[in-house]
Amino acid sequence: RAKDLGRNGWAIFESEMAHSLQLQHQILTEFGQALRNGELCLYYQPQVNMETGQVVGVEALVRWNHPERGLLTPESFIGVVEKSELIAAMGRWVLESALIQQKEWERIGIHLRISVNIGARHFLSDGFVEDLAQILLRQERTEQPRIEIEVTETEALRDLERARKTIDLCRGLGVSVSLDDFGTGQASLTSLQQLDIKEVKIDKCFVHRIMASQKDLAIVFSLSVAARMMLIDVVAEGVETEEEGALLILIGCTVAQGFGIARPMLPSMIPDWQKKWKPFSSWKSQTTRNMG
Ligand code: C2E
Ligand code: MG
Ligand code: MG
Ligand code: MG
Repeated sequence: RAKDLGRNGWAIFESEMAHSLQLQHQILTEFGQALRNGELCLYYQPQVNMETGQVVGVEALVRWNHPERGLLTPESFIGVVEKSELIAAMGRWVLESALIQQKEWERIGIHLRISVNIGARHFLSDGFVEDLAQILLRQERTEQPRIEIEVTETEALRDLERARKTIDLCRGLGVSVSLDDFGTGQASLTSLQQLDIKEVKIDKCFVHRIMASQKDLAIVFSLSVAARMMLIDVVAEGVETEEEGALLILIGCTVAQGFGIARPMLPSMIPDWQKKWKPFSSWKSQTTRNMG
């Protein structure tokens, strides 16, 4: 029956029947097959310094090329997968695929850091650090791996002590950790003080509202100042317009990711995009402009 609902049928279905074990089971069975059959692929979305134009890296975002439903975004399956053991199998696949992609780009002279999302259940599990170490070894990326792990703040910090250990072990492997959807959790700022994290990504729900709401602007501003004072990098998620970008620069938040810069795209499109990309002229800071 879910089939009749079309492309995003599962997402609708999921919200209406959050407790339908049968549907969850169906999604998991199909997802397990999808992993084995190579139906998953990764799109990549650039992260840039809006002032200088420098491309800081790309985030890998999973897509499911479903044989009947077409290209599915994570909203239609990630919730269910994250509650199952399959999240670890997917995490391993994403890590390995991203590293293979990185090598392919390097062969044509494109050097990009890749951010990989890891589900909290996998991240906080016993096997995660070993998975990461093994994949880095297999891909011969042990010297200075240029990947970063993104974990969502609320989920991954459920077990702070465990998170702290995992983050330190990742650091030991040369892999830094970024807190995703930052600002939505309760303990945002105090957790920064307790964890050795390299970057926070300010959640897109705040970024969307900064133009209209002084209070949201205040939140983004203060999170950004606090993080920077702790020498933590700040990325604004979900930057959709030139104006949002300009306002973010004004409050000192220059690294951004969002549809206003680039949509997630197939890896083959990244080289061309990178050649063509230029920041809007209103994004150039006064100092940059004065220097010519
Ligand atoms: P996220 O990690 O916070 O990723 C950012 C999401 O925001 C992506 O959605 C991206 O397409 C979307 N986005 C980027 N710029 C804009 C914008 O300007 N406006 C709006 N409205 N949206 C924007 P996507 O690809 O659908 O992924 C959704 C979530 O699914 C991700 O949120 C992440 O939590 C999860 N996810 C994606 N890929 C993976 C993966 O490989 N592993 C795991 N565990 N989770 C993943
Ligand atoms: Mg992310
Ligand atoms: Mg996010
Ligand atoms: Mg998210």
